[in-house]
Amino acid sequence: MNKKIVSFVLLACMVICAFVTSFSGVFAQNEASAPKYIFLFVGDGMSYPQFQTASDYLGQLQESDDILSGGIPLSFMEFPIAGSATTFDSTSFAPDSASTATSFATGHKTYSGIINMDESKTIPYETIAEKLKKQLNYKVGIITSVNLNHATPAAFYAHQPSRGNYYEIGEELVASGFEFFGGGAMISPTGKEKDKKDIYEVMVEGGYKVVKTYAEANAVTAADEKVVIIGETLADSNALSYELDRAENEWSLADYVRKGIEVINNETGFFMMVEGGKIDWACHANDAGATIGDTIALDDAVKVASEFAAQHPEDTLILVTGDHETGGLSIGFAGTRYDTYLQNLASQKITYARYDVDYVEKYIENKTSFDEAMVDVAELFGLTLPANAASAAQPTLVLTNSEVADLENAFNLSINGGTGDRKSYQEYLMYGGYEPFSITINHILNNKSGLSFTSYSHTGLPVAVFAQGNGEDLFKGYYDNTDIYFKLAELTGVN
Ligand SMILES: [Zn+2]
Repeated sequence: MNKKIVSFVLLACMVICAFVTSFSGVFAQNEASAPKYIFLFVGDGMSYPQFQTASDYLGQLQESDDILSGGIPLSFMEFPIAGSATTFDSTSFAPDSASTATSFATGHKTYSGIINMDESKTIPYETIAEKLKKQLNYKVGIITSVNLNHATPAAFYAHQPSRGNYYEIGEELVASGFEFFGGGAMISPTGKEKDKKDIYEVMVEGGYKVVKTYAEANAVTAADEKVVIIGETLADSNALSYELDRAENEWSLADYVRKGIEVINNETGFFMMVEGGKIDWACHANDAGATIGDTIALDDAVKVASEFAAQHPEDTLILVTGDHETGGLSIGFAGTRYDTYLQNLASQKITYARYDVDYVEKYIENKTSFDEAMVDVAELFGLTLPANAASAAQPTLVLTNSEVADLENAFNLSINGGTGDRKSYQEYLMYGGYEPFSITINHILNNKSGLSFTSYSHTGLPVAVFAQGNGEDLFKGYYDNTDIYFKLAELTGVN
């Protein structure tokens, strides 16, 4: 064949290919539309160690012989996209929940403790939830297992120089006009000086239906338009119960998501933020059993969103992330070398928080002896004194003599010293700001299970960003937490 003809044919092919490629690009862009239904799940304090520990725990429970077949993934760990996000803020590589939520709600870094304002505390930032409501007419739902005016939920509707301005945050909750709020009670409902109008009255005046019983909550429908549901049963700090302590009649996080969807579902679209807030609280207290319970509860809530997505596969995006890691949890402990015994944690029947209130307070009141208290400890945590080894429910949880000595020291400190500021740096390292006896129980149970915590504070690990649905590909890669906002803005076209 003539060389000129060959070149011409090749050239023509290239031109056609280029045209087809660019045309299909344009076509795809026109075809793709913003996800109408966006779920953002935030495990407070949840990074890789938290969900991997929960997964490995479930796996180790299933282990039937000596061959380990790995963890059982939580449902969001099987999402098609898993990215990672850095979490530093303008204060620290170990940031807090106010600044990190500001980052992914608005795309801005700020100091720890600030909600949606710049470092000078003068410029407020509009949040992705506010923009979706204003610009696209999306309805908005905000759900948390902690208080509704706590840092993470506040970062979607409030703008405050301090996360501690709970009353002002409450006023902004009402002003937001968001259609659904569900979770723990408001902190400081009448203000710091207790001289303000009850914030629940302000809500009612602002057009909200406020319900505080499960019976009323069950009766809520989309016709109520703007709703605040406060859990009927409240636990530590008026938050919802830890999953490990939750009674059957109490609403789970998944129940709030189900009701929230019922209220805000509409043809135009919605944005729902769901916080598993007590994963963080459990990790501050180094309570691995409570951490696992609340991480699984968050996943159960994700499953409700996945059921909704199955009905609206083209229109739904589900994101699951954390705001920062808490506690420096690691799978592994010096004392157990390469071994883990996560099944030990199944012996834990109660969280440190419930144990403090229901047991330790009574030990102090009744001057209970160490040996009497250890009867409860064996029943509630599996940890058994060497003298009772024969009757131990879990042989791997029989205490060594040095563990007994640590427990007895902590017990005496709890009984005689009470809670409060620890006297020395050494005591802080051992107990943080917690009840010495309960946290020592948790430390020993964790360590015997092959787990350890390095801190009572937040750490600088990156968080995972799992994505499923319309726009999922954008969340691939290793990026900063502010990019979560920018990716959502790009997808939805808000500015
Ligand atoms: Zn925290």
